[in-house]
Amino acid sequence: MGLKFFNTLSRSVQDFTPLAPPRVGMYCCGPTVYDFAHIGNWRTFVFADLVRRWLESKSFQVTHVMNITDVEDKIIKNVRERKTSLREFTGAYEAAFFADMKTLNCLEPHARPRATGYIPEIIALIEKLLARGIAYKAADGSVYFSIEKYRGCGCHYGQLLKLNLDALRAGERVRSDEYSKESVTDFALWKSRVPEDGDVFWPSPFGEGRPGWHIECSAMSMKILGDSFDLHLGGEDLVFPHHEDEIAQSEGATGKPFVKYWLHGAHLLVEGKKMSKSLGNYFTLRDLQAKGFAGREIRYLLLTAHYRETFNFTLEGLQGAKAALSRIDECLGKLREIAGASRATSPVTVESATLTAFTEALDDDLNISAAWGEIFKWVTDTNKRIAENSLTAGDAALALTTWEKIDSVLGIGTRPDAGVPPEMNSLLEARQAARKAKDFKKSDAIRDELKAKGWTIEDTPKGPRLKKI
Ligand SMILES: [Zn+2]
Repeated sequence: MGLKFFNTLSRSVQDFTPLAPPRVGMYCCGPTVYDFAHIGNWRTFVFADLVRRWLESKSFQVTHVMNITDVEDKIIKNVRERKTSLREFTGAYEAAFFADMKTLNCLEPHARPRATGYIPEIIALIEKLLARGIAYKAADGSVYFSIEKYRGCGCHYGQLLKLNLDALRAGERVRSDEYSKESVTDFALWKSRVPEDGDVFWPSPFGEGRPGWHIECSAMSMKILGDSFDLHLGGEDLVFPHHEDEIAQSEGATGKPFVKYWLHGAHLLVEGKKMSKSLGNYFTLRDLQAKGFAGREIRYLLLTAHYRETFNFTLEGLQGAKAALSRIDECLGKLREIAGASRATSPVTVESATLTAFTEALDDDLNISAAWGEIFKWVTDTNKRIAENSLTAGDAALALTTWEKIDSVLGIGTRPDAGVPPEMNSLLEARQAARKAKDFKKSDAIRDELKAKGWTIEDTPKGPRLKKI
């Protein structure tokens, strides 16, 4: 069975056949950097990371692009209210975003373009739409996209979402970046400078102003990945108007199909409710870290649900994630002990029933629940074999290789100090400090204390580690 994804464009599960295999161009709408990303945002980015890792594990050569929206309505409002500069304001949140991404072990995108770095490309795209008669300059100096003219060219507006276009009144316009489908109207490509914009404006052939949010993604994605590319990802809240408008702008300008597969991640609820600051169920990654949860626990929980299902994120679920990961860590710890030196000679590639089932599950539109089911079955079987003493060092090494292959996709990793109590690690650190200070009497005393408590010190290329005697 080959890889299949649910494509929002066709509203069906389809075989994944990229335009020019093994290359895959993948664009995921990135953060709007006016605040810390919340856990709902992170669900989408962890989902995108899973898609990328899965494609790479299947030997596709992925170019992963994630934009940074660093100019749009909410950002301008904040810059104005805080009396700061655009770069200073967005730079801080951008840096925080990438630090959070690391905490969640998301792979760094190959390109992370900022909208403000692509103003010439945005202007060129608007000029193309003007030249084709699909865009027009309004009396206020802004440039709008004409849905009527676009449809007149035989193009289809409403590819991702069924829209009531009969209710459309020609020429009605919306200037704001976000609007509902009840108000399908011509939308702004270039917003003429207004006093509230402060210093945030650029010169253009249509006058001073700034780009609309939707045109930013069309310009950046096509510049980096070409007029047509394979995959476009985002949260389902972006389907309309953002993604629908991206299609209209791009196909209106090039006359070519924009994206082959659209994948959308479903909403996230927190404690059964829509996340909101007033309900007290609004969490950034940092809020959860402050409550004592690790990045890998949060990542694990986000990865337990299928991406197209609404997911109820709870603090109890995070406790459960901690317990589930301990089960995996414990099993891996025992495997490492049994494998011992044969780790070094374990084969690079491994075939196993677990890996086959894991692959089949993820090929099936990323059926992650089935994949976890296989993993925990594997943990149970492995624990049983360990208890029966029927696992050789070679078997254990092979099992660890199986896990490494699985984890290259899930990105859960293992706790570096898996199985070692914090108290023992503190003693190890104290011994290192004593050695550094050339206080060998003290360092020997600590070594003996560790030994008495059942731990021996092993020197590894990465420094000393504790091992159970
Ligand atoms: Zn976008």
